[in-house]
Amino acid sequence: MKTSLKNFCSLVAGIIFFTSCNNTVPSSDSELTRPSESREEIGFSKADTVNNFKVTPSYPHVKVVIHQMAGYGQDSVFAQQSAVLLEQIVNSPQFWDAVINNNYAHDQNLSSQQILDKIMLAHEVDGPGGSDHVIDLRLRTINNQDDDPIWMRRCEPGSSTGTIGIDGGGSGIAAVCPQWLRSTAQSNQPAWLAAHFMHEYMHILGFRHPNKKPKSVPYKIHAIIEMLGEN
Ligand SMILES: [Zn+2]
Repeated sequence: MKTSLKNFCSLVAGIIFFTSCNNTVPSSDSELTRPSESREEIGFSKADTVNNFKVTPSYPHVKVVIHQMAGYGQDSVFAQQSAVLLEQIVNSPQFWDAVINNNYAHDQNLSSQQILDKIMLAHEVDGPGGSDHVIDLRLRTINNQDDDPIWMRRCEPGSSTGTIGIDGGGSGIAAVCPQWLRSTAQSNQPAWLAAHFMHEYMHILGFRHPNKKPKSVPYKIHAIIEMLGEN
């Protein structure tokens, strides 16, 4: 399977540029991974969210379900642990408070409350979807059989793009760089993988970040998950 070729962006050393929509560069959404970078963009600390609740909304419990997981190999258990952590975070008042008390670019003209409502409804617009109130994850690793070789090169540690994953180009399947997955598992940082899951899931919910990526919905939600999930 080749990922679709349209309308996604790539990140080079912190600078967003558009990939052209042609037949040689597969679609991508790539991410940088440095928690310290993304955390700076949130604008408040974990202590703020833990100690200073401003809102107490109520939602049905949202499940996180991995429907398929190709290529994860020995890191499958780690991925499941990361999904469990993601479910804990998404259902926490700390997460709700952090999402609501933030500002977003590329927000589809939704308020922060409406963005949170959309997350908690968990109604996928890309891919086969699933039940509402279930974050339906479909996962695979980037590989030479399914992807243009350019993506394996971009996955190389120290590459100029710093790519860690690509969204599914409308398929609803998120792909992760195998090297980054392995190192994240070896570092025992399920919050980082949970944040990757959630970043790509925000695309599956319909959010994009064509520019100004740090302030976009996927990147800010990504940063919030990392912040709340790290020990
Ligand atoms: Zn993205």
